Amino acid sequence: MKVAESASTPHSTPAHAAEAPKTTEKKAAAPVRVAGDSFEPAPARTSTGASGSRTTPTVTRTGSTGTGTTGAAAGRTGATTAAAATPPAGTAPTLDNVVDSLKAGKKDDETRAMIGQYFAPLGMAESNAAMQRIRDEGLMDNFIDATARDKDGNPVTQEAKDALKLVMGSGRLDVYAETLATVPITVADLGSSKEKLYYDPGSKGVFLDQASLSSMGSQDVANVLAHEMFHAFSDAHGGDGYSALDEGFGIAAREYAFSDGNYNLAEMVYGTKSFYRDIRHEPSYQFGDFSNADPKLKELMQAFASRDSSQLAWDKPDQLQAEYDKFFSPINRNQDWNSWLAAVDQATKDMQAARAAGTSPTKPEPKNPIQQIIDWLSSLFGK
Ligand SMILES: [Zn+2]
Repeated sequence: MKVAESASTPHSTPAHAAEAPKTTEKKAAAPVRVAGDSFEPAPARTSTGASGSRTTPTVTRTGSTGTGTTGAAAGRTGATTAAAATPPAGTAPTLDNVVDSLKAGKKDDETRAMIGQYFAPLGMAESNAAMQRIRDEGLMDNFIDATARDKDGNPVTQEAKDALKLVMGSGRLDVYAETLATVPITVADLGSSKEKLYYDPGSKGVFLDQASLSSMGSQDVANVLAHEMFHAFSDAHGGDGYSALDEGFGIAAREYAFSDGNYNLAEMVYGTKSFYRDIRHEPSYQFGDFSNADPKLKELMQAFASRDSSQLAWDKPDQLQAEYDKFFSPINRNQDWNSWLAAVDQATKDMQAARAAGTSPTKPEPKNPIQQIIDWLSSLFGK
């Protein structure tokens, strides 16, 4: 179901909020894409500096005796006792350390840092296995309490907590465990701010306006957090800050977590690009450069793209631009939501037909050196 909303009211509560899935109805197939949502401008893009300075601020497992699984095995012995919940200095924490700390109800900063350190090197499957154990052992509340913080280091509000339980309960965004243990989520009065729900790459925190949340159900807040936490995750793993790709994949994050069908990633990414061009009047808004994405970010983006009905060329910059120029750029984003979707559906079909016919627009191959010399000679003689 697609819901029409004014593009000028980003983040407004979806009209289908009343039918949002309940906590127990895991993975209800309720598409959450609405017009104009989650297109925050870039409040601090310039403050993040050049892409070369954006390194992954994760804690490395310096105590690990090797790569990957050796660290997990190292501290397992005796880790089931409460006394062993905190790993000795210099050793990498294990899942037993994490679970034991959660069972003990620990929520101090040291425990949070240890959880972040444990999850930092884990990809999707490993994060999922670890979070599944935490869910199976009934420790989700303790996990949220141990990891979620606001910018001042205080626990997050109950509404944020409830939404985080939905996000982490979906089982599909478990790589966010690291994000939760490292990125603060602050609910505050942002009435004076233009943006009400956003990730700030300057202070590396998610900010949610109290008044805006008060009109939203838990699932709506969970949708917002799935999106904003993607920005945070991307920022920590070599993404490119606010950009059409970052926004589009942030939108896909919610669909990936909370719906089961395919979705049109071209609509999400190209739609963001055109949203900025046609509604925000920022024609220079970029697709973003994800060539520095680390393996953890690439894996998550590939997972999101695995359900993309458009097969957007998100990791081929030239094709991404060329197909936008030919098929999607002619569409005005500033129009009725449903007619926009209809136009995008047609453009998607046209793009795929062109690919199948081998007439997809691509940049011309560089000429070979001999041809370049001939062209140069021709130009000399004014041909
Ligand atoms: Zn966003």
